[in-house]
Amino acid sequence: MQSIVVLGSTGSIGVNTLKIAKKFGIKVEGIVANSNTTLLNQQIEKFQPKYVAIANEKKKDAVKFDSLFVGSGGIIELLHHCQSPLVVNAMVGYSGVMPSIECLKLGKRLALANKESLVVAGKFLDCTQIHPIDSEHFGLWYLMGEKKFSKLYITASGGALRDWDVAKMKDARVEDVLRHPNWSMGQKITVDSATMVNKLFEVLEAKWLFNTDKIDALIEEKSIIHALIEFEDGSTTAHIADVDMKLPIAYALNQKIEGQILKPIDLLKVGSLKFKSIEEQKYPLWKMKDYLLQNPDMGLVLNAANDMMVEKFLNKEVSFEAIYKNIDKAIEKFDGFILNSLSDIELCNSAVRNFLLT
Ligand code: NDP
Ligand code: MG
Repeated sequence: MQSIVVLGSTGSIGVNTLKIAKKFGIKVEGIVANSNTTLLNQQIEKFQPKYVAIANEKKKDAVKFDSLFVGSGGIIELLHHCQSPLVVNAMVGYSGVMPSIECLKLGKRLALANKESLVVAGKFLDCTQIHPIDSEHFGLWYLMGEKKFSKLYITASGGALRDWDVAKMKDARVEDVLRHPNWSMGQKITVDSATMVNKLFEVLEAKWLFNTDKIDALIEEKSIIHALIEFEDGSTTAHIADVDMKLPIAYALNQKIEGQILKPIDLLKVGSLKFKSIEEQKYPLWKMKDYLLQNPDMGLVLNAANDMMVEKFLNKEVSFEAIYKNIDKAIEKFDGFILNSLSDIELCNSAVRNFLLT
């Protein structure tokens, strides 16, 4: 019987992954959460995993499981115990990076939602062992054939503030930013969509996964088209599917799917589709797209600054504008940064965060 491990089982992707595992009759050998012990306990009861870890040490007594692994070290320990050849990493932000590295070191395949792993450590990860869960990269994977491509396109919804006046955006409140027009996702990625950092991350993610710099992004407000590939012969193909992460998750768990996962799109109901460029006036961070492609190690800096500022924004400690101002500040300070080895990651991540604290 196929079995998997799910890191971040209590999150938006994690919950959908468990649904797909149930649908396919896949055993869940291990699960990992951070602080939602109510849901974690329900998952333990329902899926009877052999191993469980909780990252947040303060919550350990609320978890109904003997021999629980605890803390970020506990997640690594859990991975060492699990026999499953496939790990779904649906943890959020930097917390997912070390577990991804460890999975690959252990010779396991990685079904990757935690795009931050590639943004931070892409050059050290063996992408032949990674199945993308991110919808755009799943779309690219789905479209990719033998023919030579000239450009990869991923689409953006524009996030929750896409119809706002630019002048008002800097003061957007947490409640405004979390009101995503199309997708229901975790809080951090919803903020990342509004700042367009999510698309910068995804450009780097595509770079590592498909080994190319020929990547661009467009706004498609209905989020019906997830990715397009322009081929050298002048054809462009598009991946069209409903706004539902179950499809990419299903393929990351089992690439020989037969039968329906989602209802097909009713094209007549969709009506028209429109593509727009990503305006730097509205999304000021988008200006660094080409810079990041040329200096991909700067992904670590972008991610460290973003993780910290999004957390502060969600805690209502800083304004929306502070997210991109501080990212700019960190990028300027660490310009030219080179990541020499995997063992430097932790230190460099802390250095960026400490810089922003001062
Ligand atoms: P959620 O916030 O919904 O879930 C995050 C999960 O990670 C939860 O299980 C949470 O635990 C856990 N977690 C949080 N902090 C830690 C930590 N320090 N250590 C261990 N586990 C932790 O996020 P999403 O599911 O939306 O996103 C997960 C990843 O997938 C992100 O990298 C995101 O960018 C990516 N992604 C998400 C998409 C989506 O549709 N949601 C689409 C494409 C990519 P708990 O809830 O118990 O606190
Ligand atoms: Mg995406």
